[in-house]
Order: sequence, then C-alpha cells, then structure tokens
Amino acid sequence: MTSAVPFELPEAALARFRDILGDDAVHVDEAQRDEYRDPYWYQPDRTYDSSAVLYPSSTEQVQEIVRVAGEYGVPLWTSSQGRNNGYGGPSGRVKGSVLISFRRMNKVLEINHDLAYAVVEPGARWFDLYDALQESGNDDLLVSITDIGWGSVIGNSLDNGITYMPLGADFMAPTGMEVVLADGSLLRTGMGAMPGNKAWHTYKRGLGPTLDPLFTQSNFGIVTKMGFWLMPKPEAYAPLLMTIPRNDQLGQAVDIMRELRLEGTLRGVPSFYNIVAMAWQFPELGEYKGGKGIIPEEELDRMARDSGLGRWLMRGASWGPAEVVEAQVKRIKERWAEIEGSNVQHSTTYTRDNWGPFELLPDKIQAGVPSMDMANLVPEGIGHIGFSPVVPLLGSEVVKVERMMSEFIETRQNDNLSAGALVINDRSLVFVCNMNLVLDDEAQVKRSFDTVREMVKAFGAEGYGEYRAHIDFQDDAAEQYSFGDHAYRRFVEKIKDAVDPQGILSPGRHGIWPANRRP
Ligand SMILES: Cc1cc2nc3c(=O)[nH]c(=O)nc-3n(C[C@H](O)[C@H](O)[C@H](O)COP(=O)(O)OP(=O)(O)OC[C@H]3O[C@@H](n4cnc5c(N)ncnc54)[C@H](O)[C@@H]3O)c2cc1C
Repeated sequence: MTSAVPFELPEAALARFRDILGDDAVHVDEAQRDEYRDPYWYQPDRTYDSSAVLYPSSTEQVQEIVRVAGEYGVPLWTSSQGRNNGYGGPSGRVKGSVLISFRRMNKVLEINHDLAYAVVEPGARWFDLYDALQESGNDDLLVSITDIGWGSVIGNSLDNGITYMPLGADFMAPTGMEVVLADGSLLRTGMGAMPGNKAWHTYKRGLGPTLDPLFTQSNFGIVTKMGFWLMPKPEAYAPLLMTIPRNDQLGQAVDIMRELRLEGTLRGVPSFYNIVAMAWQFPELGEYKGGKGIIPEEELDRMARDSGLGRWLMRGASWGPAEVVEAQVKRIKERWAEIEGSNVQHSTTYTRDNWGPFELLPDKIQAGVPSMDMANLVPEGIGHIGFSPVVPLLGSEVVKVERMMSEFIETRQNDNLSAGALVINDRSLVFVCNMNLVLDDEAQVKRSFDTVREMVKAFGAEGYGEYRAHIDFQDDAAEQYSFGDHAYRRFVEKIKDAVDPQGILSPGRHGIWPANRRP
C-alpha cells in the first residue's frame, strides 16, 4: 500500500497552528511527541511518528486548526485521551501526521438527572464523569465504563469500545454528537440538527438518515461534544462469577448464555476469560505469564481444578429491583448448573444503602466505578495486541473460533491462547485473542503482528471479521469486508471524498483512504 507516504509539516503551517493555540499547546520536540504514542509498540520503530501534537482548548480552535490543515494539506489524526493502547494509541496511520489531543478539553458539560444522561467534551475520562456525578449530587446515576478509567468517554466510543453495564450492550449509550467537519464547519447530529431541539441527547435518530454511527471508526469529522446515557442506581446489584470447568463445555455454556440473554435474564455485557488470560489477575494460578512454551492440556486442567476458577470464568451481573435480581440470580444458577461441575459465585447483593466498597475488580467495573487496577496488573515491559473477530452467539461457532485461534497461537507463537469473549448483545460476541508483546524484543513484537495479520486473513476467509483493528493492520482488516467487489469500501470512499476532499482527517483510518492517497 503506497497510501501512507510520509508527510512533512511545512514551517508555515506550524506557525499558523502556534498562532491559533499558543506555543505551549503545540508540541514538536521528539521527547514531548514520544509521550504521546502507543507504549505497546517496539519503541525504536518510528513508522507511526507524528510531526506535532496540538492541544486545543475550544471547539473554535479545532475549527481553525482544520481550516489551516485544509490550506496546507496537513493530515490530522485526532484522539481524545489517546490511550488506545494496543490499537496504535494516539498515533496516526500516516507518518508525520499532526495529532490533535483533547486532553485539555475534558469538561463534563451537562448532567441531566431525570433523563439520566451526561454531555461531555472529548477529553473527559471515565474518572472525570464518575467524579462529576459524585460531586454534583448525582451519585445515584451510574456510567457504564471500560476496564480501566483513564480512557475517555468519547474516544472509546468512537472506536466502538466496549463497556459492561446494560447500556454497554450494543453500544447504546452514546447519543447526539457535535462534529467539526473538514471545512471547519460545525454539525450537530440527530435531533441536534434543529436549533434548540429539546430531545438531542434523548433520541437516537433524527429526521432522515441517522449520522451518529458514521462518525465511529471513520474519518469524516472530529467530535467535540457527545451525549452519553447513564443508568439510575438500581435497588439491587448482584455481581456473579460463573465457572466453566472444562474446555469441552465451552459450547454448552455459550448456548446457555444465549438463551439467558434472549429471554432477558442475562443483561449487560458479560465477559468470560480462559485460564491463560486469567493468570494475570489471579495469583493462585502461579507464575504462569506466557512466553515459556505451550502448557499441555492436562496442566491447564489441573490449574483450573486446583484454583477452582475453571478453564473459563465468566463475570456477569444482575441489576434491578431486589425481587427481580433475586429471581434472575436464581434462574441463572439453575441454568448454569446444567454445566457439569460448574458453579456460580454470588457472595453479595449490593443495595442502594449498601453500595460498596467493591473489593473485586469485576464488581467495581460492573458497578461503574473506574480504576486503574487492571492496567496495574500489566507488568513493566509487556504490552499486547488483540485480534478480535465478531462471532455469532452459538456454541458451535465459538468453539470453532477458539480451536482455530489456539492452533494459530500454538504453531506461530509457541504459546497458549490467551482469550476473552465479550457478549456484546443477545446474538453475538467479540472474541478477543490477546497476544502479549515483549516490548524490547523486536523479533517477538514483529512475529506477533505477523501472526495477527495472518489471522485477519484466515478468519476473514471463514467469515469472521474484526470489530476494531490496530492502525498497523487496519488495511488488512478492512480488506476482508469485500462483498460485491468492495462495494462497501467504494461507498465509504465516496462519502470520504465528498466530506473531506483534501483528505486531511485521519487518512487511512480503518482502511478509508482519501482520493489523494489511494493507489
Ligand atoms: C488493560 C487494558 C484494558 C482495556 N480494557 C478495555 C475495555 O474494557 N474496553 C475497551 O473498549 N477498550 C479497552 N482497552 C483499550 C483502550 O485502552 C480503551 O478503549 C481506551 O478507553 C481508549 O480510550 P481513549 O480515550 O484513550 O481513546 P482515543 O485513543 O482517544 O481514541 C481512540 C480512537 O478514536 C478516534 N477518536 C478519538 N477521539 C476522537 C474525536 N474526538 N473525533 C474523532 N475521532 C476520534 C481516533 O481514531 C482514536 O485513535 C483496554 C486497554 C488496556 C491496556
């Protein structure tokens, strides 16, 4: 692909950015720019270097930046917190891109208590929204969060990131955006297109085509404001840990999950992890951290048995009125008992008057309490990348994908599959194959990326596509969506050319290249 030809930032454009933002909001030194790149990358490799990082503090400044970029043909790459580690972080697809960081635009602009939503600026993190709810007397509203709290509500949402409470299912929470377009004009989506409309952040559509999803995983605009739905604190909350003792019970467990979801008993985004993935979190699994060759099946079974965690462990929860939660937990336990030797651990039902503290990390996450606990488990010098296809919520499908992935990881990486599956809705899950990177080992990092690239193609051929991809293999992942001789790609390219004729907004994001960079 020749599309990613590096860009050299003209001095005149840099001077204009400084005029708009002031010197302290324009970082060009290598050391400063290096603070704003993916730590999960072989650092001496400068393929995705930036030429400057800009820190706007207002929407008007963003509009001015975009206009200057248009004049000079500067490729801009926007991130919100820029902590998309393992997907390229804040780095642009094109070397020499100018990065826009929203870390200085991090306000929670509005909290609507009765309608249970908030409106945030792009830099607002899960921590910021959580704190704003506590400090404004709205601690009876909960926000569906990711595993770690330092990412932003908007940045994570714009990469189809996954959160775990009921509003995380099917990416339901984001609603109503304000977007700076490539010509510097400002667009409001949905009902927000009507000046003064009262229902902007409460109704997912508008009149005519719905635009919000067009700004996720795309490069059609820069989002400067967004609504995010919140959940009133329920009367009761029961976090659950559910074991799957043997690997050959995975299919049966997935089918039970589907039935529990389709009947409305199991809500939110439950997620389950295999024993190798769990080794990071549970000291009782011993020193296993991967990279020491393949652990035989019998040994994995022994670890599963001795720890009592099973070959797979699912975290899920029930939220709602006390009687409903009690009935749901009972039903889940009954159905799960069909899996021989399994158990459902349910130690506490939290209530509004007895809301934490939460000791276990899964309990915190599913109650919307952000932390850095999970990030702190990642040892120094280790990173990861994921290969994460979407799989129908059928036992037979999930088993097939698990087998295929294991074979790849064992033969290419000489390691065991470390996997998690996030049940994003009632009919599908995102199956994350997590590959650890030894960050100072160039050959190991390169081999891991090569393996993912190979998996992207092999799984694509079998009908499984990525839900989100690292910048380094976004072209390969997008290439798999080729029905009708790439009818989808041609369609999004037409939109790209119409809304961003100079191709300045995040060229190459998820395989969408502007006309001036297409081979
Ligand atoms: C231990 C660990 C656990 C994790 N757990 C989760 C998890 O549970 N769920 C999950 O989804 N991820 C998870 N991640 C991945 C990642 O850390 C999070 O998704 C993180 O929240 C990303 O948020 P961010 O604000 O840094 O995104 P950003 O890096 O700011 O944004 C991501 C991408 O979205 C686009 N973008 C961002 N802002 C804008 C904007 N304003 N306008 C236009 N485009 C924009 C850009 O292309 C950008 O590259 C995890 C990572 C680690 C290391």
